[in-house]
Amino acid sequence: MYVSDRLKNMAESATIKMAELARELKKQGHEVISLSLGEPDFDTPEHIKSAATKALNEGYTKYTPVPGLLELREAISEKLQRDNGLDYASNQIVVSNGAKQSIANLSLSLLNEGDDVIIFAPYWVSYKEIIRLSGANPIFVDAKIEHDFKINAVDLEAAITDKTRLVLFSSPCNPTGMVYTKKEFEPIVEVLEKHPNIMVASDEIYEYINFSEEGHCSIASFESIADRCIIINGFSKGFSMTGWRLGYMAAPLWVAKACAKMQGQFTSGANAYGQKAAADALLSDMSPTKIMNEAFRKRRDLVIALLKEIDGFKVNHPEGAFYVFPDISALYGKKYATKTIRNSADFCEYILNKVHVAIVAGSAFGADECVRIAYSASEVQLREAIRRIKKAVDALV
Ligand code: PMP
Ligand code: GLU
Repeated sequence: MYVSDRLKNMAESATIKMAELARELKKQGHEVISLSLGEPDFDTPEHIKSAATKALNEGYTKYTPVPGLLELREAISEKLQRDNGLDYASNQIVVSNGAKQSIANLSLSLLNEGDDVIIFAPYWVSYKEIIRLSGANPIFVDAKIEHDFKINAVDLEAAITDKTRLVLFSSPCNPTGMVYTKKEFEPIVEVLEKHPNIMVASDEIYEYINFSEEGHCSIASFESIADRCIIINGFSKGFSMTGWRLGYMAAPLWVAKACAKMQGQFTSGANAYGQKAAADALLSDMSPTKIMNEAFRKRRDLVIALLKEIDGFKVNHPEGAFYVFPDISALYGKKYATKTIRNSADFCEYILNKVHVAIVAGSAFGADECVRIAYSASEVQLREAIRRIKKAVDALV
């Protein structure tokens, strides 16, 4: 009995693993607070649920076209025009079972063995493994907390080689919460303009969770590179629809066609009645999304203020998503019982076992000096969780 080398060489998702560990501890009767999984704690807005029920009753229970119901692709096209000023025809859109699948479709459709993919680090945990699964090599361009986790265009340029096929990043960013402004994109775009063969995948799944004054900017809005950009987005975060498994990409026609072909062999179209509801989500009342955004902004302020009171935690000021990514490396070398905290995984293990708060090691996101805290939990839980973390940190010697 043996599994494939492909699987053996793949790391398990650290976010999902930590959430499972937290569930296990809860089952054993511990009062665990899980700030590990990036999942909004709000229910899906009522009108979206009603639209799904209605669609179900109307018989949307069959396979849809592989790239998605035309109605939903038209709604996405309208949304891209309305929110981002971007022109994508419905045949340039492919709806999938979550943005995660959109990224997998893209990697499997574009990349060959030996290609390089530049990933801005810290990066979302699954990028690296999805890219590796396609046979390509992830190449990281690092950004540190001192620069608000934003990369330097000079470093990007230095990482580009003849083998570079794709650049991949998220803004708003998971795990750092940083958001690129139009101005900050400019030097990055200037580098990309010099390399017309490189495709750009922009993961915008946190688009609607953005507290910055300027709001969301898509790199695809730069005309000079627009024909090489692939936008990844979805319904999980902005509409609190994680369990519906609905995401999409908007891409040059040839990329969309390639990804639809790939998806046709893997999963076919996404679920039918969910797609009807997703069209409704995009084109009807957006106020629940705005209310959630405001709640996340308040929590961000609370969490930052509380974390700043913990000795050894260095925090920046994230402008989007629902994560903070403090640098805790000042605590490395400290001890408890017979153990020493040497890295982010040691710290998370200590915090989980000592005070039953689940957070994720920065090493999973390419930054071992940090840990990720998802503030997609109530203010009461957040206050209690950070009180516990502080207590545990204060107990280190
Ligand atoms: N991209 C990023 C940056 C994410 O944080 C997530 C988390 N779920 C995804 C993509 C995938 O989202 P989903 O598959 O739920 O649409
Ligand atoms: N994207 C979320 C996270 O980063 C959900 C879990 C996952 O898909 O990895 O926690």
